[in-house]
Amino acid sequence: MPAVAGLAPEILAKYEPVIGLEVHVQLLTASKAFCGCANRFGAPPNTNVCPVCLGLPGALPVLNAKAVEYATMASLALNCQVRERSIFARKNYFYPDLPKGYQISQFDKPIAEHGWIEVPAANGGPKRIGITRLHMEEDAGKSLHDGFADSATRTYLDLNRCGTPLAEIVSEPDIRTPDEAFEYLTRMKEILLYSEVSDCNMEEGSLRCDANVSVRLKGAPKFGTKVEVKNVNSFKFVRAALEYEIERQIELTESGGTVKQETRLWDANEGRTYTMRSKEQAHDYRYFPEPDLQPLIVTPEFLEEMRKKLPELPEARRARMIAEYELSAKDAHTLTASREFADRFEEAAKKARNPRRVANLLLSEVTGRLNALGLELDQSPVTMAGIVQAADLLDEDKISSKQLKQLFDIAFENGEDFSVVYEREKPQQITDASAIEKLIDEVIAANPKQVEQYRAGKTSIAGFFVGQVMRMTKGQANPALLNELVAKKLEG
Ligand SMILES: [Zn+2]
Repeated sequence: MPAVAGLAPEILAKYEPVIGLEVHVQLLTASKAFCGCANRFGAPPNTNVCPVCLGLPGALPVLNAKAVEYATMASLALNCQVRERSIFARKNYFYPDLPKGYQISQFDKPIAEHGWIEVPAANGGPKRIGITRLHMEEDAGKSLHDGFADSATRTYLDLNRCGTPLAEIVSEPDIRTPDEAFEYLTRMKEILLYSEVSDCNMEEGSLRCDANVSVRLKGAPKFGTKVEVKNVNSFKFVRAALEYEIERQIELTESGGTVKQETRLWDANEGRTYTMRSKEQAHDYRYFPEPDLQPLIVTPEFLEEMRKKLPELPEARRARMIAEYELSAKDAHTLTASREFADRFEEAAKKARNPRRVANLLLSEVTGRLNALGLELDQSPVTMAGIVQAADLLDEDKISSKQLKQLFDIAFENGEDFSVVYEREKPQQITDASAIEKLIDEVIAANPKQVEQYRAGKTSIAGFFVGQVMRMTKGQANPALLNELVAKKLEG
C-alpha cells in the first residue's frame, strides 16, 4: 500500500497506533430476529418482509430463540462473560433503509462482556486482545445505488435484510498494529465458523468490520483523537486502510495539524480513506429500553447447554493435533483451516495404520495439488479413503514414496481416485535381496567418501545410499528391505 507521503521509518517509530475493531456478524438462523421471515441472502428484493420487520403500526416483535442460542455460543467461544439479564433497546435514527425508524439493539446491558482473543504478537508470543462486549441487534435493509437504468437519479430499497439477527462484537483498544488487527479478525472468523453461528461471508455482508484508529507519541498517557473507518469489506483491506490511516494521522501531526474526529470511508480502488462525516454530524441515537420485549434471561442451565454445543475450538484443536500427530504449528494450521477439513482429516486418520502418514500425505501430496487446481478438499479426485489406502501401502512398504508420488500425479491428472490408479498401475516392487545388494555394492564402491562419513558416525547419510538405489530402480526397490540392506552393508 502506498504511504501517504512515504514517512521515514524513524518518524513512524516515534508514534504508537491505537486500534479498536467493531465487527458485525449475521447469525445463521433460518428466520429473522423478531419475525418469521426467512433469513436468506439473494432472494428477490422485498420478498422476505412482513409487518414486523417493516415496522408497520401495531406489529410486535417476538425474539428468535435460535438467535439467542447463537449469540450465546459466540459469546462463550470468544471467552466472554454472559450476562444473566440483558436488555433490548431501541437505537433511533432515520434512514431510508430502516422503515421502523429504529433498530432493536442492546445498549447498556448487552448479552456478553469481557471476552478476549489471543493473537500472535510482533515478538512471537501470544497477545490477548480484549473484547469489550458482544451485543445482539437487528440488521437494517439495503439501499441500492447502482445497477439500474435510472441509478443516476434514483436509489432503490431492498428491505429483505431488515431484521436479520446480528451479533456486534466490539474490541478493546488493545490492537497496536495493522497486522494484529488482521490476526484478530482472522481468528475471530475462524472461531465463529467453527462454532457454526455465522457463515462469515464478507462478500455477502454476513461479516462486516469498522475500525477505530488513533496515533499518539510513544509513552503518551492519553489516546489521540480517533477516526472511524467504515466500508472495509475484506481483512486485507482493513489492514491496508489502517496502514494508510496511521500514516495519514502521523503526517498530519508531524506537519503541525490536528487529527479531526470523524468517520472516513475506505476506497479500495484508490487505496485511501476519505471523509464521510465529521463528529458534529454524528447521531444521537436516543437509546431507550425496547418496550415490546422482555428482558432476556440466560439461566446457568441454558449456558451449560450452549457450552456443550460448542465444538473443540481452533486453538485447542491445533494444540491437541500438534501433540497427537506430531505436527509442526504450520502444518496444524493447514489441517485445521476449516472445521470440516480438520474433521475429515481426523476421521480418515483414525482408519489408517499410522495416522501421522495421513497428515503427511494430505500436506505433501494433496493440499498443494488442490491449491494449484483451485479445488477444495471435497472436490479432490483422490478421496480420503484413497489417501488412507495410500498411507497404509506406504506403511506396509508395499510401495515406495516415489511410486506413490507417481500414482498421485496420475490420479490428479486423470481426475481418478487413488484406488483406481493403484489397481490399474499396480507398481512393481523389487523384493529380491541379492539384486538390491548388488546395486548397493555399486553405490558404495562409487562413493567412498560418504561411506567414510557413515562409519565416522554420521548415520543419517544412509538416506543418501537409499536414494541412489531408489533412483537406479526407478523407485521400485522395496523400501523396508532396501533400508535394512543399506544399513547392513554400511556396518559391514
Ligand atoms: Zn418479517
